[in-house]
Amino acid sequence: MAMGKAFDIGLGQLAGCCVPASEAALGEASGESTYLRDVQVRPQPRMAAPQKAAQTFYLETFGCQMNEHDSEKVAGVLLARGYKQVEAVEGADVILYNTCSIREKAAQKVFSRLGEYRYAKKEGQVIGVLGCVAQQEGEEIFRRAPWVSLVCGSASYRKLPQLIAELEAGNRRVTGLDTDTDETFETEITRRDNPWRAYLTIIEGCDKACSYCVVPFTRGPERSRTSESILAEVRHLAEAGYTEVQLLGQTVNSYADPSTRRMRFSDLLVVVAEVPGIRRVRFTTSHPRDFGKDIVEAIEAVPGVCEHVHLPVQSGSTKVLNAMARTYTRKEYLEKVTLLRAAKREISITTDVIVGFPGETEQDFEETLSLMDAVQYDGAFCFKYSPRPNTPSLKMDDAIPEEEKSRRLGVLLERQREIQRARNERLVGKTFEVLVEGKSRRENQWSGHASSNKVMNFTSKREESLGDYVRVKVTAATPNSLIGEVAAE
Ligand code: SAM
Ligand code: SF4
Repeated sequence: MAMGKAFDIGLGQLAGCCVPASEAALGEASGESTYLRDVQVRPQPRMAAPQKAAQTFYLETFGCQMNEHDSEKVAGVLLARGYKQVEAVEGADVILYNTCSIREKAAQKVFSRLGEYRYAKKEGQVIGVLGCVAQQEGEEIFRRAPWVSLVCGSASYRKLPQLIAELEAGNRRVTGLDTDTDETFETEITRRDNPWRAYLTIIEGCDKACSYCVVPFTRGPERSRTSESILAEVRHLAEAGYTEVQLLGQTVNSYADPSTRRMRFSDLLVVVAEVPGIRRVRFTTSHPRDFGKDIVEAIEAVPGVCEHVHLPVQSGSTKVLNAMARTYTRKEYLEKVTLLRAAKREISITTDVIVGFPGETEQDFEETLSLMDAVQYDGAFCFKYSPRPNTPSLKMDDAIPEEEKSRRLGVLLERQREIQRARNERLVGKTFEVLVEGKSRRENQWSGHASSNKVMNFTSKREESLGDYVRVKVTAATPNSLIGEVAAE
């Protein structure tokens, strides 16, 4: 297994933040499939045609849901300027890569993509690098790939219209690399990729400074949108027919309403769920330090707030958590889990884990395994530690050899697979409401997600409609998904 790969054992692409949807999930590697991978999704209505002869753009996204949503907003900015989005890179006037640098492998991928244009770039074509690699490497990108014309980090996206205007005016190289901003990236138009679930960023950046993580450098300081602006967008989404919204932030529950309403995150969950037309509200990623009882109470009280919390633990050893600067101990983390397990609704819990952090002993690793046993996660994204530029952990002693990281990762994945198998098998015979999101090529086979975010592949002889909510009875389970049939009315 390649270094830096994300291993998702659990709830598929929709669970964790900064999980590369394009990299192999354990379910695929083991030959199990989720039908969501061969779905036919209802096509999105496209924006009105531009008035002048349209310039075309191609936009490829690497990395997490926040990047995917940033790309939706970037596409909105370009469409509003009269550009037309194309699915193939060949012949596009503007080629943009929205990049991820959370692990080394992800960052390398971008430079290999850029290398393809060394000789192939056409006269007048614009090649741009957006996102975390842009922020991290800055103008160095022009040195390594002189054919690039635009470098813009995510903290500067609000400047994009201006940067694009400069390119249109004939400037050869433009950059947006600020991080000292207190603004968020809000646009009039966002071109959303999914017709039922809409992503919505409520807090950008991160102030937590975990010792292994590049996000505080690449996405800048934490800044929240006002509750009014969030609610206005949710109402607009409901009017446009979206029934599920997913509130996004690197530490979504650290949300701090900058308006005079000073709405708490848990109150925001409730008011968003109450917007007429909205049936489900998800949120990711929660930081354990800021996770309190009020969030559990919101889930208990309001059926529209989904019964799923993604609560990255990173390690089960307090010693390693300290070295990671995670700001909680194993005991404190487990207290948050106790709150979740005591809820009146069953809440599914997923996590992120890093193995092979500098100085992680065999005993520390055993503590991570015992924590997995204690919590019984419904899904986990497991990573080998990847040293990143500028991060404090880069200078730490006792690096763990690659083979040992791989061994620990294998053990962890196997343990988690068994936990998931058992957790999913418990659900056989139960009935859940599922948002119908995909139709398999196989006859009468459909797929979607339950409120818990579990993937449900189900049979229905009725002509279901994509986007409907149906009751599905679980008939069988695998570690990565549930199998069922539409329940009799
Ligand atoms: N903000 C979230 C939190 O606090 O848990 C996570 C967002 S992070 C961008 C997504 C995940 O990537 C992290 O939870 C962590 O497990 C993983 N990650 C971040 N930096 C990493 C590194 N240097 N090596 C390996 N995994 C890393
Ligand atoms: Fe990175 Fe830590 Fe911030 Fe999450 S909380 S984005 S892991 S610095």
